[in-house]
Amino acid sequence: MCGIVGVWNPATADPTEAARLVFFSLYALQHRGQESAGIAATDGSDLRLVRRMGLVGQVFGEPDLGVLGGRAAIGHTRYSTTGSSRIQNAQPMVVSVDALGELAIGHNGNCINARDLRDELSREGVQFATSSDTEVVAQVIANERGATWDDRLTRALPKLRGAWSLVILTPSALYAIRDPLGVRPLCLGRKGDAWLVASETCALETVGATFVRDVAPGEVLRIDDRGPMPIADFAADRRGLCVFEHVYLASVASDLGGVSVYATRERMGETLADEHPTEADVVIPVPDSAIPAAVGYARRSGIPFREGLIKNRYIGRTFIQPSPELRQQGVALKYNALRDVLDGKRVVVVDDSIVRGSTSGPIVELLRGHGAKEVHLRICSPPIRHQCFFGVDMARRDELIASELDVESIRRHVGADSLGYLSLAGMVRATGGTEGELCTACFTGDYLVPVQLELAKDSLESEKVRV
Ligand code: AMP
Repeated sequence: MCGIVGVWNPATADPTEAARLVFFSLYALQHRGQESAGIAATDGSDLRLVRRMGLVGQVFGEPDLGVLGGRAAIGHTRYSTTGSSRIQNAQPMVVSVDALGELAIGHNGNCINARDLRDELSREGVQFATSSDTEVVAQVIANERGATWDDRLTRALPKLRGAWSLVILTPSALYAIRDPLGVRPLCLGRKGDAWLVASETCALETVGATFVRDVAPGEVLRIDDRGPMPIADFAADRRGLCVFEHVYLASVASDLGGVSVYATRERMGETLADEHPTEADVVIPVPDSAIPAAVGYARRSGIPFREGLIKNRYIGRTFIQPSPELRQQGVALKYNALRDVLDGKRVVVVDDSIVRGSTSGPIVELLRGHGAKEVHLRICSPPIRHQCFFGVDMARRDELIASELDVESIRRHVGADSLGYLSLAGMVRATGGTEGELCTACFTGDYLVPVQLELAKDSLESEKVRV
């Protein structure tokens, strides 16, 4: 997952307005990636780029926005899925060809045939500077035939396999693109004369833009002074929005496909209460992601909702590693438990998912350590048994606890008195969609695009970087 944004702002008195809108939109998408952030902007003749490691608020200062003047800009906040976490892999990335000039690209997703495409281009003499699949996508576009970027884009996109939502900026146009299945979200908004595209609707709201519509799966939208214009449609014959966007990735402040993420997660909690009821005194969430689900569980079960764990709001992906001693503190670095709420109580604790299974055990222990008499763990998604190849860094298959253990063994492993997972049907129903409109591969193993099961996050790293 990553966050992407694009702004086309034809007429404004403030030349930094487009970059400013991108900056605040990226702030709203920080939950989608905390490793690096970048903005590319154009004044109609060339592209300017600022990108650094760190959080959006750390990366950009007022002087950067001055450099990023111009009518249009794109932005990216990164969470690495292909390629390691380092500045060369930060986005937007810029490529340039003599005939057409520069193009900047921001990518959310994972191009699963990047290795083959890169090998092909390398044989033709193209040099690569990074281990990111996004550079491969950019080079595939740049090395296509065609007199315009529109031509090159529409020739290049059918060669890509996998998941991609893209924002692309050239001095004369902004492009917003989704893969044929629409695995990662992307929406279009309007603020005055400006057009915006963003991974999630929460970014539009943050800057006072109104939601116009989702960019459709397979759609290539070109935006310039004339407004948004679809220039190609590569839609597949089914849809495949990642169901994990509903479960965990997207902000609760967003709508996905016109449906409130908060409401979906509440329904997940309600269904979980129907499927896995228990006798208890209090329902608590693992904050922040499971709060609406716990609200739903409490409402349906009639058991009071309380906050029993408080998350440190300022903990991100910090670059200062804890010492081995502090590391033993584990989840205690992230959460404080409230003895007042927990002492002597039978507790239902609701979480969104179990991935590796390293968080749940310490949480159960923390709750017991603060007096919980019984701990009943409820999970708002089915067991995750299969690796994601489409843009979520979930872990390799052999690291996923549910790929090795059944539910009873996982319960013993995490030390809970009972463990209940939401069913696949219950999860899908809560989204308001059908299984035929979603990618559920991490739960079912039914990949919508053929995948090489051995594909790894660092699959483009084995070659020596040449630049
Ligand atoms: P664990 O089971 O220890 O791997 O941790 C699972 C928890 O991490 C979940 O409850 C989520 O809140 C969170 N989570 C889920 N997916 C991811 C992901 N791809 N990257 C980071 N955190 C995640």
